[in-house]
Amino acid sequence: MDVLNLKAFLITALIFVPIEHLFALRPRQKIVRKAFLNDLIYALFNGAPITLGLIATTTLATGMLGWLVPGFVGAAISSQPVWLQVIEIIVIADIGFYFAHRAFHAIPFLWHFHAIHHSIEELDWLAGHRVHPVDQVLTKSASFVPIYLLGFSGESIVLFAFIFHAHALLLHANVRLNIGPLRWLIASPQFHHWHHANERVAYDKNFAGQLSLIDVAFGTMYLPGKTVPARYGVDDAIPSNYIEQLAYPLVPRGRVNETPSANDA
Ligand SMILES: [Zn+2]
Ligand SMILES: [Zn+2]
Repeated sequence: MDVLNLKAFLITALIFVPIEHLFALRPRQKIVRKAFLNDLIYALFNGAPITLGLIATTTLATGMLGWLVPGFVGAAISSQPVWLQVIEIIVIADIGFYFAHRAFHAIPFLWHFHAIHHSIEELDWLAGHRVHPVDQVLTKSASFVPIYLLGFSGESIVLFAFIFHAHALLLHANVRLNIGPLRWLIASPQFHHWHHANERVAYDKNFAGQLSLIDVAFGTMYLPGKTVPARYGVDDAIPSNYIEQLAYPLVPRGRVNETPSANDA
């Protein structure tokens, strides 16, 4: 953890803690709730391995596949206004995110990495940090590799990364936020809370990271009125601390005390 990371984390806490207090979905949920310390460790220490992994995959992919996109295409893309590039990036990146996320639910080997994120039982902005680095590096690579290959400007990619991170934290936040008809276009906290529901009717729904419209298009949207799930989590026996959670997907399956989940299917 570096000083910059700690500073960014404290600023994020100063923004989200009051928002969750003012617009609480579950007002009785405490700030220091179950697994708080574990998720704090993720928030402070998990960013470095994810960033390093992402640098490795994007460097490798652009080195190997860069020839696919002619130079004039990249020049035309990066010469557009930054706001337009950011909108284009959100669309392209979220289609990549959607399919990678679906794969993490559909393929049992990948699900064991992603189950760590779905083990969250009390959702808030801090819980959103609980992601296995392998899960995040591969899913984010599906977003970032195409946009690097297409030649979007560095400025627009940095702006997108900031928007994506802020949006991801908001999606997990303990907030009630009504965005009206926009919920069919943009992912809302209600949309992502249903993705975390431990309720059979909501399994394998709402995969998008930013654009719920992608789930509408592929028939995986689940947004029943203004309701929210009764409970979150998975039936898989996920260990409760950071180190064991990192090791969990790699432990031979015979040694893991598992309860089969519908998500494994
Ligand atoms: Zn998921
Ligand atoms: Zn989530």
